[in-house]
Amino acid sequence: MMGCKDKPQSPLFYSFNLDEVVPQDHLLRKIDRFLDLSDLRQHLASYYSHTGRPSVDPELMIRMLIIGYCLGIRSERRLCEEVKLNLAYRWFCRLSIEDTVPDHSTFSKNRHGRFRQAETLRFVFEKVLQSCIDAGLVGGEGFAVDASVVKADASRQRHHEDDDDWGGGPAIREYLDGLEEDDTMAVAPPKKISHSDPQARWTAAPGGPAFYAYSTNYLIDTDAGIVVDVEATPAHRTLEVQSTKTMIERLEDRFAIKTKRLIGDTAYGTAEFLGWMVEEKNIEPHVPVWDKGGRSDGSFGRSYFHFDEEADHYTCPNGKELGRNRRAFRVPRTGITKENTIVYRSLKGDCEACPSKERCCPKTPYRKIARSVHEAARDVAREVAKTPAYRRTRRQRKQVEMLFGHMKRILKVDRLRLRGLSGAQDEFLLTATAQNLRRMAKYLGTGPPVVPGMT
Ligand code: SF4
Repeated sequence: MMGCKDKPQSPLFYSFNLDEVVPQDHLLRKIDRFLDLSDLRQHLASYYSHTGRPSVDPELMIRMLIIGYCLGIRSERRLCEEVKLNLAYRWFCRLSIEDTVPDHSTFSKNRHGRFRQAETLRFVFEKVLQSCIDAGLVGGEGFAVDASVVKADASRQRHHEDDDDWGGGPAIREYLDGLEEDDTMAVAPPKKISHSDPQARWTAAPGGPAFYAYSTNYLIDTDAGIVVDVEATPAHRTLEVQSTKTMIERLEDRFAIKTKRLIGDTAYGTAEFLGWMVEEKNIEPHVPVWDKGGRSDGSFGRSYFHFDEEADHYTCPNGKELGRNRRAFRVPRTGITKENTIVYRSLKGDCEACPSKERCCPKTPYRKIARSVHEAARDVAREVAKTPAYRRTRRQRKQVEMLFGHMKRILKVDRLRLRGLSGAQDEFLLTATAQNLRRMAKYLGTGPPVVPGMT
């Protein structure tokens, strides 16, 4: 016999406990154990007025944003709908079944206003990182760095022309305000400038059409793959490498963690960056050296020449010296070029009589070798590359790529929703915070809430 539902749909009273309906192994329950936002109100206190209507609770907004970034809900409008309907989301936000969910426009106002002025998202990121450190997930010695390009919210078709009016909007104001002192001007000017997000960089991905983009730069601890710092830059190699210095110094300042070993790809193997790592910061470089001295046509590359540090000259395969400062200048010169190199030259007479001239310098009367002022640091990197530890750290570098893959495929951060460099920074900070929280949940599992300072 076919049954039918005979109970009335709406009883007068319910016995309902939100805490009981959220499964013990729910991701948000695990994340909640490690999320301590008790200092948030104090951090934001000076940005709120003492009079007027009470504002929406900032902790509630941060909790909602964390749900969005942990679970790939990118639209603020949809996030508000989901929190309204989903019991686990309500539980995580400390909302009862009857509490009102804030309107999506509140997010926009707070993200562009108070949260940005007070660097709230960095505050939250650092709170979560401190929990990771307290839980023993950060080894604090070996770090890996890499960058990934993320599409900006800017049309490929609309570029700014000289006679166009800029119009308004926070991204435009940020670009125009920073035009004078912006260090992005230190790199070559971009081919095209977006009309809606001028700080985004016109960039070409291999095998695809060019687009406007920002780069997210991650510095991760190689023990458990925790992101220890993140920095947004326009998508440009030089700026990505510069941001690594910022991240390493910030980690040292805020958490007193000194980098002992840094793992990176060839982009981080420039002479200038290796010099900074080895000579200034005493970091062991696990980075392939960016070397343009090799030759593939069988002629003599740099490795055929031996450098004598004491005598300060190279010796060529024919046993002749390549020296610097061959001419005596009245005012002594450093001999350092704009590219931070010192040029060593052979004598024309030696080369003319040399049987190997065709293999060495067939098109010039003598041989020149440009030696970087940071060559000693490059030699340190070359020595590190011969060690067994280097083979292991090459594999560890893949952890950063896996985090970028997770960010784009699972968390759906493959195109930004906010504009401007600050917008990109906000989104990347929230993504890294979400990834660290998910990682803590994975490694440390379920249990009672973690009391700060008791782990
Ligand atoms: S061509 Fe000149 S620099 Fe080259 S091997 Fe001969 S002598 Fe040395």
